[in-house]
Amino acid sequence: MNNLLEGSTTLLNGIGEETAEVLSEMGINTIDDLFNYLPYRYEDVRLRDLNEVAHGEKITIEGKVHSEPAIVYYGRKRNRLVIHLLINQYLVKAVFFNRAFLKRKIAIGDTIIVSGKWDKHRLTITGQDIQVNPKEHTNDFEPVYPLKGSMTIKTLRRFIEQAFKDYGDLINETLPSALLTKYKLPSRKLALRKIHFPQSLSEVKEARRRLIYEEFFVFQLRLQAFRKLKREASKGLSQQYNLQHLKAFIQSLPFELTDAQKKVVNEICRDLKSSYRMNRLLQGDVGSGKTVVAAIGLFASVTAGYQCAMMVPTEILAEQHFTSLNSLFQQTGVSIELLTSSVKGKKREEILSKLVKGEIDILIGTHALIQHDVIFAKLGLVITDEQHRFGVEQRRILREKGETPDVLFMTATPIPRTLAITVFGEMDVSIINEMPSGRKKVETYWVKHNSINRVFEFIEKELVKGRQAYIICPLIEESDKLDVQNAIDVYEVLSQYFHGKYNIGLMHGKLPAKEKDDVMRAFSQNQLQLLVSTTVVEVGVNVPNASLMVIYDAERFGLSQLHQLRGRVGRGSEQSYCILLADPKSDNGKERMRIMTETTDGFVLSERDLELRGPGDFFGKKQSGLPEFKIADMVHDYRALEAARNDTVTLLEQDDFWESPEYLPLRNYLKMTEVLNGEKLD
Ligand code: ADP
Ligand code: MG
Repeated sequence: MNNLLEGSTTLLNGIGEETAEVLSEMGINTIDDLFNYLPYRYEDVRLRDLNEVAHGEKITIEGKVHSEPAIVYYGRKRNRLVIHLLINQYLVKAVFFNRAFLKRKIAIGDTIIVSGKWDKHRLTITGQDIQVNPKEHTNDFEPVYPLKGSMTIKTLRRFIEQAFKDYGDLINETLPSALLTKYKLPSRKLALRKIHFPQSLSEVKEARRRLIYEEFFVFQLRLQAFRKLKREASKGLSQQYNLQHLKAFIQSLPFELTDAQKKVVNEICRDLKSSYRMNRLLQGDVGSGKTVVAAIGLFASVTAGYQCAMMVPTEILAEQHFTSLNSLFQQTGVSIELLTSSVKGKKREEILSKLVKGEIDILIGTHALIQHDVIFAKLGLVITDEQHRFGVEQRRILREKGETPDVLFMTATPIPRTLAITVFGEMDVSIINEMPSGRKKVETYWVKHNSINRVFEFIEKELVKGRQAYIICPLIEESDKLDVQNAIDVYEVLSQYFHGKYNIGLMHGKLPAKEKDDVMRAFSQNQLQLLVSTTVVEVGVNVPNASLMVIYDAERFGLSQLHQLRGRVGRGSEQSYCILLADPKSDNGKERMRIMTETTDGFVLSERDLELRGPGDFFGKKQSGLPEFKIADMVHDYRALEAARNDTVTLLEQDDFWESPEYLPLRNYLKMTEVLNGEKLD
């Protein structure tokens, strides 16, 4: 950056300490800040034909003053100035409130331009802005800026104009010229000038296109440089797994891997073998077969002579993984143990002592894994399932139980690509975007609450066949604020309806963890046929015999969450169903219900969810970690984001990036110590 542009705004004519203070409150401290203070919209100030203007519209008109302006005083210090203007064949009234002082400046015969709100019935414009005898009507579009304190648009624009006059030539290019050519982008100087002083909306568009790309580019450059340096600086294990054994293991699986699974297995194996440390996020829809992929990774690491840990959020999940991995590893001689808080006393001691001696290859468990007395002899690979359920700290503790173990995070929440490359940009991302063949789609219906009796009949039909069903409600208890079904009431109603025929369980977040686990276990063992629950049931529980998911007040959930809930069924060989009970009032709500009935692809749904809810709501308030962009919009401008990401990756691979003067402005964005101290792994 040119140093002069870093100078204080007081360098400009007309900006003293006081004004500088006001500007500073708006975040404008330097000349460069002025250039980069962008309008958030434009006002159309083209002169309009009055015949075309609708009542109430904001317009700009030009006319000749027809008679002496008149002032009416009323109340205390209040007045109204009325000017009669001749515009073509019309006599139009322009009214200004409390601006009597204007009268002195206006004489009969003057030409004035007035902007304001048009009253079609009274042929009156309520003026906000006026120019008397303008030299020329130049700007068709006037930028509107966010303002603070005593600052006005006019003053701010004057400052920006002044800044351009005195310093505009010093605005440097930042982007590589090859990229400007490739995307036909205007220079930085031109783009900034046009965004502040456009002649047409298409100029605004061109300028925005460049500034949006630049914003993403700089953001991605930092992220990718961080990722690259981190990766190169990370000394990882170079795990020399036994390829033959690994191939034999994959051969022994009861099915052929899908192409997506094969690709991801390759990515993971490459990471294991490389001397970099793996930091990979594995995304795959519920049922896409992440567990097998994890198993292959675990197996590879074990053949390389390492131990592995797999951490999952609940006991039941731990048990389920333990069971399925045991059956996958049956013939292999790999030793697996399960460690949860239910494993106590002698059994626990035995596991811990075998672990530290290296006699256990794979340890599966819950948070119990991160206790200080859990010590591995040689930890090589750490996997966390449903990674978002764990805190950063918990994941870190587990990682630090080895020297520099490779790390794989798994999640069944498909994250839209745009978010994946911003929020998790410093991770490598693997995606399983394909379901094993022969999977039956969950049939999804949207019904109104007044059809509840038919829904009950449908539930019964499934139960009669020996299946089980989940019933999800948004709330636990009755609320006087919300007219929404709650789990306790629904539980009561269903208990009466199915009295003596079926067992019904109730689960919600206020139950102690132990009780939740008990209820869930009873359901998975078919001691309960119906489970009424809040969304706590979301986590990857596997009850293949459950074939029906009923969701009350479904419009209250986002698409991603509905998709997660629906993923609880359809895990067995039977046809499964999902019933969305909803009377959505908004179009958005109706749209969500419609989309749910139309697609079962989690990635498609997550993209639609992002469009409908925006990035902030997508993650919910808790985990945002979302970057804030000034002009760019991750959802709307996702193509620019993708391009910027690819371009920065390519650029950083170029040998001359760190030397050539052309990239100096970009290198200045990378204060590497800052980047590296950012400690962003995770
Ligand atoms: P996820 O953990 O991604 O939700 P799982 O790994 O539990 O999914 O897999 C769901 C089911 O699909 C399991 O019963 C698993 O054995 C089976 N499965 C996984 N991969 C395949 C495949 N390639 N072909 C057929 N079935 C598969
Ligand atoms: Mg899973």
